[in-house]
Amino acid sequence: MQNELVTVTGGGGFIGGALVADLRSRGYSKIRAVDIKPLDEWYQKFPDVENLVLDLNLKENCHRAAQGAYQVFNLAANMGGMGFIEANKALCMLSVLINTHMLQASQSHGVKRYFYSSSACVYNGDKQRDPDNPGLKEEDAYPALAEDGYGWEKLFSERMCRHFREDYGLCTRVARFHNVYGPWGTWDGGREKAPAAICRKVIAAKLSFMYIDDCILGVRKIMDSDIEEPINLGSSEMVSVNQLVDIVEEIAGVKLKRVYDLDAPKGVMGRNSDNTLIKQYLGWEPGIPLRHGLEKTYAWIHDQYVARENGLAVVK
Ligand code: NAD
Repeated sequence: MQNELVTVTGGGGFIGGALVADLRSRGYSKIRAVDIKPLDEWYQKFPDVENLVLDLNLKENCHRAAQGAYQVFNLAANMGGMGFIEANKALCMLSVLINTHMLQASQSHGVKRYFYSSSACVYNGDKQRDPDNPGLKEEDAYPALAEDGYGWEKLFSERMCRHFREDYGLCTRVARFHNVYGPWGTWDGGREKAPAAICRKVIAAKLSFMYIDDCILGVRKIMDSDIEEPINLGSSEMVSVNQLVDIVEEIAGVKLKRVYDLDAPKGVMGRNSDNTLIKQYLGWEPGIPLRHGLEKTYAWIHDQYVARENGLAVVK
Protein backbone atom coordinates (compact mmCIF):
# COMPACT_ATOMS: atom_id res chain seq x y z
CA MET A 1 0.00 0.00 0.00
CA GLN A 2 2.98 2.32 0.54
CA ASN A 3 3.24 2.70 -3.25
CA GLU A 4 -0.37 3.72 -3.69
CA LEU A 5 -1.39 7.37 -3.86
CA VAL A 6 -2.93 8.79 -0.68
CA THR A 7 -4.76 12.12 -0.67
CA VAL A 8 -5.01 14.20 2.48
CA THR A 9 -7.37 17.16 2.25
CA GLY A 10 -6.78 19.91 4.77
CA GLY A 11 -3.13 18.88 4.44
CA GLY A 12 -2.04 22.42 5.27
CA GLY A 13 -3.91 22.28 8.56
CA PHE A 14 -3.06 20.96 12.01
CA ILE A 15 -4.20 17.32 11.89
CA GLY A 16 -3.80 17.01 8.10
CA GLY A 17 -0.18 18.19 8.34
CA ALA A 18 0.52 15.69 11.12
CA LEU A 19 -1.07 12.91 9.07
CA VAL A 20 1.06 13.72 6.02
CA ALA A 21 4.17 13.72 8.23
CA ASP A 22 3.12 10.34 9.65
CA LEU A 23 2.44 8.80 6.23
CA ARG A 24 5.89 9.93 5.01
CA SER A 25 7.57 8.46 8.06
CA ARG A 26 5.82 5.14 7.36
CA GLY A 27 7.25 5.00 3.86
CA TYR A 28 4.34 6.19 1.75
CA SER A 29 5.95 7.51 -1.41
CA LYS A 30 2.97 9.06 -3.19
CA ILE A 31 1.16 11.59 -1.04
CA ARG A 32 -1.05 14.40 -2.24
CA ALA A 33 -1.83 17.17 0.24
CA VAL A 34 -4.58 19.63 -0.65
CA ASP A 35 -5.56 22.84 1.09
CA ILE A 36 -7.14 26.17 0.23
CA LYS A 37 -4.50 28.16 2.14
CA PRO A 38 -1.51 29.60 0.29
CA LEU A 39 1.47 27.25 0.67
CA ASP A 40 3.42 29.60 2.93
CA GLU A 41 0.60 29.35 5.50
CA TRP A 42 0.64 25.54 5.72
CA TYR A 43 1.67 24.33 9.16
CA GLN A 44 3.82 21.56 7.73
CA LYS A 45 4.80 21.01 4.11
CA PHE A 46 7.24 18.63 2.47
CA PRO A 47 9.06 18.90 -0.86
CA ASP A 48 8.47 15.23 -1.77
CA VAL A 49 4.69 15.58 -1.36
CA GLU A 50 2.39 16.77 -4.16
CA ASN A 51 1.11 19.95 -2.52
CA LEU A 52 -1.96 21.42 -4.21
CA VAL A 53 -3.62 24.71 -3.33
CA LEU A 54 -7.26 24.17 -4.25
CA ASP A 55 -10.66 25.31 -3.04
CA LEU A 56 -12.44 22.02 -2.34
CA ASN A 57 -15.83 23.70 -2.19
CA LEU A 58 -15.66 23.33 -5.97
CA LYS A 59 -16.46 19.97 -7.49
CA GLU A 60 -13.84 20.12 -10.25
CA ASN A 61 -11.12 20.68 -7.63
CA CYS A 62 -12.33 17.65 -5.68
CA HIS A 63 -11.92 15.57 -8.84
CA ARG A 64 -8.35 16.82 -9.13
CA ALA A 65 -7.77 15.89 -5.49
CA ALA A 66 -9.26 12.39 -5.74
CA GLN A 67 -7.94 11.43 -9.17
CA GLY A 68 -5.78 8.30 -8.99
CA ALA A 69 -6.01 8.11 -5.19
CA TYR A 70 -6.20 4.75 -3.43
CA GLN A 71 -7.20 6.28 -0.12
CA VAL A 72 -8.62 9.70 0.74
CA PHE A 73 -8.44 11.28 4.18
CA ASN A 74 -10.86 14.21 4.17
CA LEU A 75 -9.79 16.61 6.91
CA ALA A 76 -10.61 19.87 5.14
CA ALA A 77 -13.21 22.00 6.88
CA ASN A 78 -13.75 25.48 8.12
CA MET A 79 -13.14 25.20 11.79
CA GLY A 80 -11.81 26.84 14.92
CA GLY A 81 -12.39 27.10 18.64
CA MET A 82 -15.78 27.69 20.23
CA GLY A 83 -15.58 31.46 19.66
CA PHE A 84 -15.03 30.93 15.95
CA ILE A 85 -17.69 28.24 15.58
CA GLU A 86 -20.35 30.28 17.34
CA ALA A 87 -19.66 33.36 15.24
CA ASN A 88 -19.39 31.58 11.87
CA LYS A 89 -22.25 29.09 11.64
CA ALA A 90 -23.00 29.59 7.95
CA LEU A 91 -19.33 29.34 7.03
CA CYS A 92 -18.99 26.12 9.04
CA MET A 93 -22.06 24.63 7.35
CA LEU A 94 -20.61 25.40 3.94
CA SER A 95 -17.99 22.70 4.58
CA VAL A 96 -20.79 20.34 3.53
CA LEU A 97 -19.77 21.22 -0.03
CA ILE A 98 -16.27 19.84 0.57
CA ASN A 99 -17.45 16.48 1.86
CA THR A 100 -20.22 16.17 -0.71
CA HIS A 101 -17.92 16.82 -3.63
CA MET A 102 -15.10 14.75 -2.19
CA LEU A 103 -17.43 11.77 -1.73
CA GLN A 104 -18.74 12.09 -5.30
CA ALA A 105 -15.24 12.49 -6.72
CA SER A 106 -13.90 9.57 -4.67
CA GLN A 107 -16.69 7.33 -5.83
CA SER A 108 -16.21 8.20 -9.48
CA HIS A 109 -12.41 7.76 -9.30
CA GLY A 110 -12.70 4.36 -7.64
CA VAL A 111 -11.09 5.36 -4.32
CA LYS A 112 -10.78 2.27 -2.13
CA ARG A 113 -11.18 3.87 1.31
CA TYR A 114 -12.47 7.24 2.42
CA PHE A 115 -11.91 8.71 5.87
CA TYR A 116 -14.09 11.51 7.22
CA SER A 117 -13.13 13.58 10.25
CA SER A 118 -16.24 14.22 12.27
CA SER A 119 -16.40 15.81 15.69
CA ALA A 120 -17.71 15.51 19.23
CA CYS A 121 -19.80 18.55 18.25
CA VAL A 122 -22.31 16.13 16.65
CA TYR A 123 -23.49 15.05 20.11
CA ASN A 124 -26.83 16.06 21.53
CA GLY A 125 -26.31 19.26 23.52
CA ASP A 126 -28.78 18.18 26.21
CA LYS A 127 -26.44 15.30 27.09
CA GLN A 128 -23.53 17.64 27.77
CA ARG A 129 -24.91 19.90 30.46
CA ASP A 130 -23.68 17.97 33.49
CA PRO A 131 -19.93 18.27 34.17
CA ASP A 132 -20.13 15.19 36.41
CA ASN A 133 -21.61 12.93 33.77
CA PRO A 134 -19.86 13.79 30.59
CA GLY A 135 -19.12 10.42 28.93
CA LEU A 136 -20.55 10.38 25.42
CA LYS A 137 -21.36 7.10 23.76
CA GLU A 138 -21.67 6.95 20.00
CA GLU A 139 -25.45 6.53 20.19
CA ASP A 140 -25.74 9.84 22.10
CA ALA A 141 -25.65 11.71 18.78
CA TYR A 142 -29.35 10.83 18.39
CA PRO A 143 -32.01 12.13 18.74
CA ALA A 144 -30.08 14.86 17.01
CA LEU A 145 -29.40 18.17 18.72
CA ALA A 146 -25.93 18.90 17.46
CA GLU A 147 -23.86 22.05 17.99
CA ASP A 148 -25.62 24.63 15.84
CA GLY A 149 -23.86 25.18 12.51
CA TYR A 150 -20.58 23.26 12.72
CA GLY A 151 -22.03 20.19 14.50
CA TRP A 152 -25.02 19.83 12.19
CA GLU A 153 -22.74 19.92 9.17
CA LYS A 154 -20.61 17.16 10.67
CA LEU A 155 -23.65 15.03 11.51
CA PHE A 156 -25.10 15.44 8.03
CA SER A 157 -21.76 14.64 6.40
CA GLU A 158 -21.34 11.54 8.60
CA ARG A 159 -24.66 10.27 7.33
CA MET A 160 -23.74 11.03 3.76
CA CYS A 161 -20.64 8.85 4.23
CA ARG A 162 -22.88 6.08 5.51
CA HIS A 163 -25.24 6.31 2.55
CA PHE A 164 -22.42 6.44 0.01
CA ARG A 165 -21.19 3.22 1.62
CA GLU A 166 -24.59 1.56 1.70
CA ASP A 167 -25.89 2.74 -1.66
CA TYR A 168 -22.73 3.08 -3.77
CA GLY A 169 -20.29 0.71 -2.07
CA LEU A 170 -17.66 3.36 -1.26
CA CYS A 171 -15.80 2.10 1.81
CA THR A 172 -16.04 4.94 4.34
CA ARG A 173 -14.66 5.34 7.85
CA VAL A 174 -15.71 8.10 10.25
CA ALA A 175 -14.05 9.19 13.48
CA ARG A 176 -15.49 11.72 15.89
CA PHE A 177 -12.47 13.67 17.12
CA HIS A 178 -12.58 15.02 20.64
CA ASN A 179 -10.42 18.13 21.27
CA VAL A 180 -7.10 17.41 19.61
CA TYR A 181 -4.10 19.47 20.68
CA GLY A 182 -0.36 19.57 20.19
CA PRO A 183 2.44 21.30 18.32
CA TRP A 184 1.47 22.77 14.94
CA GLY A 185 -2.01 23.60 16.16
CA THR A 186 -3.44 27.10 15.90
CA TRP A 187 -2.36 29.03 18.98
CA ASP A 188 -3.31 32.58 18.20
CA GLY A 189 -5.58 34.70 16.00
CA GLY A 190 -9.11 33.66 17.01
CA ARG A 191 -9.32 30.11 15.66
CA GLU A 192 -7.25 28.55 18.45
CA LYS A 193 -8.84 25.94 20.69
CA ALA A 194 -8.45 25.07 24.34
CA PRO A 195 -5.89 24.36 25.79
CA ALA A 196 -4.41 27.24 23.77
CA ALA A 197 -7.51 29.29 24.63
CA ILE A 198 -8.17 28.19 28.20
CA CYS A 199 -9.49 31.63 29.06
CA ARG A 200 -12.55 31.04 26.91
CA LYS A 201 -13.84 28.32 29.17
CA VAL A 202 -15.51 28.57 32.52
CA ILE A 203 -14.30 27.32 35.85
CA ALA A 204 -16.61 24.35 36.18
CA ALA A 205 -16.33 22.87 32.70
CA LYS A 206 -14.79 19.43 32.49
CA LEU A 207 -13.38 18.26 29.20
CA SER A 208 -10.90 15.82 27.75
CA PHE A 209 -8.09 16.54 25.31
CA MET A 210 -6.38 14.13 22.92
CA TYR A 211 -2.73 14.60 21.99
CA ILE A 212 -2.09 14.75 18.23
CA ASP A 213 0.06 11.56 18.15
CA ASP A 214 -2.87 9.55 19.60
CA CYS A 215 -5.17 11.15 17.02
CA ILE A 216 -2.98 10.13 14.08
CA LEU A 217 -2.53 6.58 15.38
CA GLY A 218 -6.31 6.32 15.88
CA VAL A 219 -7.05 7.62 12.37
CA ARG A 220 -4.80 4.91 10.93
CA LYS A 221 -6.33 2.19 13.06
CA ILE A 222 -9.89 3.22 12.17
CA MET A 223 -9.06 3.59 8.48
CA ASP A 224 -7.64 0.04 8.41
CA SER A 225 -10.45 -1.46 10.50
CA ASP A 226 -13.84 -2.99 9.73
CA ILE A 227 -15.67 -0.35 11.79
CA GLU A 228 -18.45 1.01 9.62
CA GLU A 229 -20.28 3.29 12.03
CA PRO A 230 -18.98 6.65 13.33
CA ILE A 231 -16.75 6.05 16.32
CA ASN A 232 -15.36 8.22 19.11
CA LEU A 233 -11.69 9.10 18.85
CA GLY A 234 -10.85 11.02 22.00
CA SER A 235 -9.15 10.83 25.35
CA SER A 236 -11.15 9.69 28.35
CA GLU A 237 -8.84 11.53 30.76
CA MET A 238 -11.05 14.25 32.21
CA VAL A 239 -9.84 17.57 33.53
CA SER A 240 -11.53 20.72 34.66
CA VAL A 241 -10.24 23.84 32.98
CA ASN A 242 -8.81 24.90 36.32
CA GLN A 243 -6.78 21.67 36.45
CA LEU A 244 -5.60 22.38 32.94
CA VAL A 245 -4.35 25.78 34.07
CA ASP A 246 -2.67 24.11 37.08
CA ILE A 247 -0.71 21.80 34.78
CA VAL A 248 0.38 24.62 32.45
CA GLU A 249 1.42 26.70 35.48
CA GLU A 250 3.52 23.80 36.74
CA ILE A 251 5.20 23.29 33.37
CA ALA A 252 5.88 27.02 33.03
CA GLY A 253 6.94 27.41 36.68
CA VAL A 254 4.58 30.34 37.24
CA LYS A 255 1.44 31.10 39.25
CA LEU A 256 -1.26 33.14 37.57
CA LYS A 257 -4.05 35.26 38.94
CA ARG A 258 -7.26 33.85 37.49
CA VAL A 259 -9.96 36.16 36.23
CA TYR A 260 -12.99 34.51 34.69
CA ASP A 261 -14.84 36.24 31.86
CA LEU A 262 -18.18 34.45 32.08
CA ASP A 263 -19.57 36.36 29.10
CA ALA A 264 -17.08 34.84 26.65
CA PRO A 265 -18.29 31.93 24.46
CA LYS A 266 -18.30 28.85 26.69
CA GLY A 267 -19.07 25.78 24.68
CA VAL A 268 -20.29 22.73 26.52
CA MET A 269 -20.02 22.23 30.28
CA GLY A 270 -18.95 18.61 30.22
CA ARG A 271 -17.76 16.47 27.37
CA ASN A 272 -15.76 13.31 27.36
CA SER A 273 -15.22 10.44 24.99
CA ASP A 274 -16.82 7.16 26.09
CA ASN A 275 -14.27 4.71 24.75
CA THR A 276 -16.15 1.45 25.30
CA LEU A 277 -16.67 0.90 21.58
CA ILE A 278 -13.16 1.72 20.36
CA LYS A 279 -11.64 -0.51 23.07
CA GLN A 280 -13.98 -3.29 22.05
CA TYR A 281 -13.06 -3.02 18.36
CA LEU A 282 -9.39 -2.14 18.54
CA GLY A 283 -8.28 -3.12 22.04
CA TRP A 284 -6.83 0.40 22.17
CA GLU A 285 -7.74 3.93 23.20
CA PRO A 286 -5.83 7.22 23.18
CA GLY A 287 -3.56 7.07 26.22
CA ILE A 288 -0.92 9.77 26.07
CA PRO A 289 -1.18 11.60 29.42
CA LEU A 290 -2.25 15.24 29.31
CA ARG A 291 0.83 16.31 31.25
CA HIS A 292 3.13 14.71 28.67
CA GLY A 293 1.30 16.22 25.68
CA LEU A 294 1.07 19.64 27.26
CA GLU A 295 4.81 19.70 27.99
CA LYS A 296 5.50 19.22 24.28
CA THR A 297 2.80 21.70 23.25
CA TYR A 298 4.01 24.29 25.74
CA ALA A 299 7.61 23.97 24.54
CA TRP A 300 6.52 24.37 20.93
CA ILE A 301 4.29 27.41 21.57
CA HIS A 302 7.05 28.90 23.73
CA ASP A 303 9.54 28.62 20.83
CA GLN A 304 6.98 30.10 18.43
CA TYR A 305 6.33 32.96 20.83
CA VAL A 306 10.02 33.76 21.32
CA ALA A 307 10.62 33.59 17.57
CA ARG A 308 7.78 36.05 16.99
CA GLU A 309 9.17 38.41 19.65
CA ASN A 310 12.48 38.32 17.76
CA GLY A 311 10.77 39.18 14.49
CA LEU A 312 11.11 35.69 12.99
CA ALA A 313 8.37 34.00 10.94
CA VAL A 314 6.10 31.69 12.93
CA VAL A 315 3.10 29.42 12.43
CA LYS A 316 -0.16 31.23 13.19
P1 NAD B 1 -7.38 23.05 10.65
O1 NAD B 1 -8.22 24.28 10.53
O2 NAD B 1 -5.98 23.19 11.10
O3 NAD B 1 -7.40 22.24 9.26
C1 NAD B 1 -8.44 22.27 8.35
C2 NAD B 1 -7.85 22.69 7.01
O4 NAD B 1 -8.88 22.67 6.02
C3 NAD B 1 -7.29 24.12 7.04
O5 NAD B 1 -5.90 24.11 6.72
C4 NAD B 1 -8.11 24.85 6.00
O6 NAD B 1 -7.37 25.81 5.24
C5 NAD B 1 -8.59 23.70 5.11
N1 NAD B 1 -9.77 24.08 4.34
C6 NAD B 1 -10.85 24.79 4.77
N2 NAD B 1 -11.68 25.03 3.76
C7 NAD B 1 -11.12 24.45 2.66
C8 NAD B 1 -11.50 24.38 1.30
N3 NAD B 1 -12.64 24.96 0.86
N4 NAD B 1 -10.69 23.74 0.44
C9 NAD B 1 -9.53 23.17 0.86
N5 NAD B 1 -9.12 23.22 2.14
C10 NAD B 1 -9.90 23.85 3.03
O7 NAD B 1 -8.21 22.07 11.62
P2 NAD B 1 -7.77 20.64 12.24
O8 NAD B 1 -7.76 20.81 13.70
O9 NAD B 1 -6.56 20.10 11.55
O10 NAD B 1 -9.05 19.77 11.85
C11 NAD B 1 -9.04 18.80 10.80
C12 NAD B 1 -10.41 18.14 10.73
O11 NAD B 1 -10.71 17.53 12.00
C13 NAD B 1 -11.55 19.13 10.44
O12 NAD B 1 -12.50 18.49 9.61
C14 NAD B 1 -12.14 19.39 11.80
O13 NAD B 1 -13.50 19.77 11.71
C15 NAD B 1 -11.96 18.02 12.48
N6 NAD B 1 -11.95 18.09 13.94
C16 NAD B 1 -10.89 18.64 14.60
C17 NAD B 1 -10.89 18.70 15.99
C18 NAD B 1 -9.74 19.30 16.77
O14 NAD B 1 -9.77 19.25 18.01
N7 NAD B 1 -8.71 19.85 16.13
C19 NAD B 1 -12.01 18.21 16.72
C20 NAD B 1 -13.07 17.68 16.01
C21 NAD B 1 -13.03 17.59 14.62
